[in-house]
Amino acid sequence: MKQASKTLISLNSKFSKAKNQRDFLENGIFGNDRLPKFAQTILDHQLDVTPKTLDTLQLNVGYTCNQSCTHCHVDAGPDRTEVMSRETMDACLQVLKTNQFRTLDITGGAPELNPNFKWLVEHARPYVEEIIIRSNLTIIESHTRFNDLPDLFKKYGVRVICSLPCYTESNTDAQRGDGVFQASISALKRLNKIGYGVDPELRLDLVYNPGGAFLPPAQEKLESDYKSRLKTDFGIDFHELLSLNNLPISRFLDTLIREKKYERYMELLVNSFNSSTIDGLMCRNTLSVDWDGRLYDCDFNQMLVMPINGMESAHIANFDLNQWQFRTIRLSQHCYGCTAGTGSSCQGSII
Ligand code: SF4
Ligand code: SF4
Repeated sequence: MKQASKTLISLNSKFSKAKNQRDFLENGIFGNDRLPKFAQTILDHQLDVTPKTLDTLQLNVGYTCNQSCTHCHVDAGPDRTEVMSRETMDACLQVLKTNQFRTLDITGGAPELNPNFKWLVEHARPYVEEIIIRSNLTIIESHTRFNDLPDLFKKYGVRVICSLPCYTESNTDAQRGDGVFQASISALKRLNKIGYGVDPELRLDLVYNPGGAFLPPAQEKLESDYKSRLKTDFGIDFHELLSLNNLPISRFLDTLIREKKYERYMELLVNSFNSSTIDGLMCRNTLSVDWDGRLYDCDFNQMLVMPINGMESAHIANFDLNQWQFRTIRLSQHCYGCTAGTGSSCQGSII
């Protein structure tokens, strides 16, 4: 497999520093009032972005990845070394045991590359109704030692959510690297073979995100196209397609700026603001934890190093539900990515 991109860190890009991304999003087209800031739009529409009931614990167990995709909001890649320790995982398990989370959502990077990944899945299983693994698929095919991941997923009844930005090889490889499509198809066949995507109890969902500076087509129509093409071309089944918007942070932000599409894309997001998405914003019911145990409103705020308001130095080991419940969610201009069109969350379109 060939990498589609390099990490911003390895390129020594100014956007490898979260502060530069935050400053950029605060200024420019938003700093000179050409476009309204997100917080202003929320006020103008008299909307409420306050916490609801805490439902999901999302753990980012490390930024290491076997891929390096062009749009990655994590700036993940083979050269990233940040990995959650067993000790921090243990602290997360204590929080799972003592609170009523419905879902544990494990993400990365490629979460399977964390040396304690299997241990985490096994030990978390008794405490939540649902465990989600966000897999890039190719990790399963990357080495024989990962070929049995589908069996592990099945053993613990894990829901697998996999990225596949298109049902064509050329579009997928352009975004994720040459050879990614074929490896992804092999992994999907491996998952199908043991019942994933076929048995209703073994959930296999795919994730689409646009290959450029545009919003996704309607999720339902896209799902039907994916189902028909993947079945006809490769005999592959899956349950649901989750369609995501690209948020203007990290490598996608860097690409937008290099290709001189940033302002046009932000105008598109602002003009596509949809107030009906506010109810389903994932920051309202999710606690996001980074590899080092620090706490965020969502994975995007994590990448921008915008810790939870009032919990800036908090660690998962001293998580306080009361403080989480009465926090003010930190919003910035990237949030327009979650509210554009039909909206976007880790569970796909919001409406
Ligand atoms: S597979 Fe996912 S985490 Fe890895 S580089 Fe691609 S988008 Fe980022
Ligand atoms: S980026 Fe995060 S904080 Fe902003 S709206 Fe989306 S989920 Fe909420």
